[in-house]
Amino acid sequence: MLTQRKSMKVIAITLSFIAFLMASFYTLFNNIQTAQTTWKNYIHLEMDKSHYLNQAIIISGYGGFIHNFKNAVIRRDYSYLEKAEPQIQDTINALDRYLSLTPEHINPVLDIQYVISEYQAKLPVLKQMIASGASVAEIDKSVRVDDTRAIAAFREILHSSKEHPLAMLQKTEQSYSSTTSKLVVILNFLIIVSSIAIAFIYYLYKKLAIKMTERELIIKCAPNAILSANENGIITTANHEAMKLFGFNETGINKISVDDLVPSNVKSKHQALRNEFQQSDRIKPMSQRNAIFHGKKLSGDLFPAKIAIATYSIDNKKHSIVIINDLTEELKHKNEATIDPLTQLANRRAINQHMGQALAQVKRHHIALSICLFDIDHFKSVNDQHGHLAGDEVLQQVARVMQENIREVDFIGRWGGEEFIAILTGTGKQGALEFAEKIRNEIKLQSQTKRFPVAITISAGVTLCDGNQDIKTALNNADKALYRSKHNGRNRVSMV
Ligand code: GH3
Ligand code: MG
Ligand code: MG
Repeated sequence: MLTQRKSMKVIAITLSFIAFLMASFYTLFNNIQTAQTTWKNYIHLEMDKSHYLNQAIIISGYGGFIHNFKNAVIRRDYSYLEKAEPQIQDTINALDRYLSLTPEHINPVLDIQYVISEYQAKLPVLKQMIASGASVAEIDKSVRVDDTRAIAAFREILHSSKEHPLAMLQKTEQSYSSTTSKLVVILNFLIIVSSIAIAFIYYLYKKLAIKMTERELIIKCAPNAILSANENGIITTANHEAMKLFGFNETGINKISVDDLVPSNVKSKHQALRNEFQQSDRIKPMSQRNAIFHGKKLSGDLFPAKIAIATYSIDNKKHSIVIINDLTEELKHKNEATIDPLTQLANRRAINQHMGQALAQVKRHHIALSICLFDIDHFKSVNDQHGHLAGDEVLQQVARVMQENIREVDFIGRWGGEEFIAILTGTGKQGALEFAEKIRNEIKLQSQTKRFPVAITISAGVTLCDGNQDIKTALNNADKALYRSKHNGRNRVSMV
């Protein structure tokens, strides 16, 4: 039980640890994703910015509007302006877009746009002068624009970039590879821990499986009836012996209550006892001095039983295991060993046993104890004249008469042959003499009726025992008294 609890604890810790590792792994993975998205957005922004800036530089530079503007001046060719005009607008637009992404560059962008707008403003003049056939020098003088501000602004913008994009990419890569290494370490750790945990769980599972199989086989093979019941007393498991003993099959499992398997007169007491017993985890054989418990088959038949109960709790719910030993056969054999088959009285073995107990009681409680030894007179001639069967019948009838005339506390047995013994606890000399006389008289009278095959008489020897006597002495004395009765003419009671 303890090992099982321990294992459950270890499994719980292992599972919590795995859960913790998985949570860390998930958090790390999430962080990486966030970082990735941030970097992706950042790079896109940088790319857009440089795209618009480059567009502005290209459109305004070589092959761009300044180039075309200057060619129109130098060559006094009107057609160059057709190209320059939309390029100016495109440059302004590209710069607007760039500004929307980098509002911090408002001043240099405005400077550039200012210079461009100067070019734009000079376009009609340039057109007019080309048309009027002005010289290159005249035209240049009129439409010249000072680019210094724009050049300085472009420089400022280009130098403002804090870090080279490549360096930033390198940094991103480094951060990625360090995160990946960490991830790999965690992943490996996770794999190792999980493998150990799985191996351990498998080991526990195997041990548990062995224990479960063992338990199952023990219950299955046990010669005893074994039941398990839940906290309400409902039978949850029963082995074959139990089902055979109580007379139910698998369909009774989870339906029948253990309270239904006890005699009806103790059912309510049994419920209370069961509840009381289930209060604590314990193992207990149900036994009481000189009392035999009984089980009840579903058919209602009772049988003597030895019962052991063990309770245990899982999740605060009490369960019980009940082991029942059917004592029917045992008691039958015990009976056979102590009962004389002809007269159904106690035999010599049981007499000796009872005598030992009776003498011990005398010694302990200082009570009176008398023994009466009876012997049928001339019994040999009964056999000889009427046959053995008649002799047997006489013995049975004598036993009946004795049994009918004895008190509940007294004991009677067949000592052997045609000899009987009565052990009278709490009876003194006078009482014993009266008892023996009564038996003698009853037998004499009843043997003259039809109940007996032949009329007989009986002799008795009575003795009073004291606590210091052993069985042998007591019996010797009774025998001496009996001999006296025989010697004095039989059909009488004598005392020693
Ligand atoms: P006494 O008056 O001196 O006691 O004479 P007895 O004939 O009764 O005494 P004895 O000891 O000589 O004879 C006892 C007879 O009891 C001998 C035996 O055959 C007979 N006997 C013993 N056990 C049984 C039994 O179980 N059944 C029958 N039918 N006879 C038995
Ligand atoms: Mg005899
Ligand atoms: Mg006799």
